Amino acid sequence: MVLTTNTKVIKTDKSRISEVDFDNIPFGRVFSDHMLIMEYKDGAWDQGTIRPFEKLRMSPASMVLHYGQAIFEGMKAEKGQDGEIYLFRPELNIQRLNKSAVRMAMPEIPEQVFLDKLRELIAIDKDWVPTKEGYSLYLRPFMIASDEFIGVKPSQTYKFIIFTCPSGPYYSKPVNVYIETKYSRAAAGGTGFAKAAGNYAASLRPAQIAGPKGFDQILWTDSVEHKYVQEIGTMNVFFVFGETIVTPELNDCILPGTTRQTLIEMMKAEGLKVEERPITTDEIFEAHEKGILNDCFGCGTAAVIIPIASIGNDEKTVQLPPVEKRTISAKFKKQLVDIKRGLAEDKFNWLVKV
Ligand SMILES: *Cc1c(COP(=O)(O)O)cnc(C)c1O
Repeated sequence: MVLTTNTKVIKTDKSRISEVDFDNIPFGRVFSDHMLIMEYKDGAWDQGTIRPFEKLRMSPASMVLHYGQAIFEGMKAEKGQDGEIYLFRPELNIQRLNKSAVRMAMPEIPEQVFLDKLRELIAIDKDWVPTKEGYSLYLRPFMIASDEFIGVKPSQTYKFIIFTCPSGPYYSKPVNVYIETKYSRAAAGGTGFAKAAGNYAASLRPAQIAGPKGFDQILWTDSVEHKYVQEIGTMNVFFVFGETIVTPELNDCILPGTTRQTLIEMMKAEGLKVEERPITTDEIFEAHEKGILNDCFGCGTAAVIIPIASIGNDEKTVQLPPVEKRTISAKFKKQLVDIKRGLAEDKFNWLVKV
């Protein structure tokens, strides 16, 4: 199963698993017993250590704390009906981490090494993978600059860490989104396509301002004209205009979501019309006026699909059809969740056994 077996393994002598109520796990606050740490130095990654999950000790001068060379991924391991543990298209996340790394002047990780270390870590903490429906083991790989130096330049040393969190289902009521026309999440030539930590810091203030106006999430638009739709919060966005499914085409301001790509492939396989193209906020309002704004949803690994209840700005807000009437979002959410759980045939060969 595991190909690179040279990982140093230090197992915990006191597992915390009995302290966890597996029927009631908040998202992202409970951490499994072990974590993986790989160190990059002199141009190469070490063989990696799996050790008890614990606090990091680092210098206040660590470069990541000052200039933000930090990238991450979000993945899930799920227990299938057959009791085996599966990853979903992990190669997409691994390739994306490496693209983020290049953009942030950080070192890449060989794909096979990443995958093998991840599987080894999950295998050691396999009892932490929840069995309950809708539950999963959320995986958080990330990389940070670790030079102790406060000059602005790429660090020479890095840490690549993976820790995991057993997590309950991500329930969300349909959300109200605010069309942002002042702030931007990403600009052309910037880092929007990378899962770079700083992007998320920059997105917090706009959401903090939109909240009291009654909006749950931001609908990001392009930074030049604030006219073209990019993403919703930290999710990719889809619209259904009449019978046609549309989503913004990828550019360097849009995070290329694995869920986005997967949904497009599933929809096309069913013969549905899917367009990846620029979408303006005017087009959304026009579609609503014509009565053809049938569905809108955000998608990502954590939540899979979240229906949008309303879309608005400071002048007007339009309501979308009630969730029960939406055929596309509900149907594909179920299909995707079923494939991930082994309840539906994995005809695209997306699952990778741990
Ligand atoms: C992670 C992320 C997504 C969703 O990506 P998935 O691979 O589907 O989880 C979308 N937008 C942003 C900004 C993200 O950070």
